[in-house]
Amino acid sequence: MPLYDYHCTECGAVFEARHSINASAPACPACGASAVERRITSAPASLKGMAANAGGGRNASKEQLQAKWSEETPRLREQLVSKLGEDMVRKNLPHLGGSD
Ligand SMILES: [Zn+2]
Repeated sequence: MPLYDYHCTECGAVFEARHSINASAPACPACGASAVERRITSAPASLKGMAANAGGGRNASKEQLQAKWSEETPRLREQLVSKLGEDMVRKNLPHLGGSD
């Protein structure tokens, strides 16, 4: 089950809750209010899927995958940075590397 970050708009408390993707938001543990907002902290699934697909097909050998990965990664990263911004990519896909 995914872990979500919530922000209570009543008392300002920030808390984490683990629940299924279809469940409704939990009440604030500090004040009991149901006026909580989910904070987006993790990368969208589609973004992770893009990164995973950059490694190549399932039947490729480990060496082929590594070679393809090192070839594809800078290009993929460039695409993601132009779409999402440097901060987003660095935060959510640190394994893609980047200049610090
Ligand atoms: Zn609260």
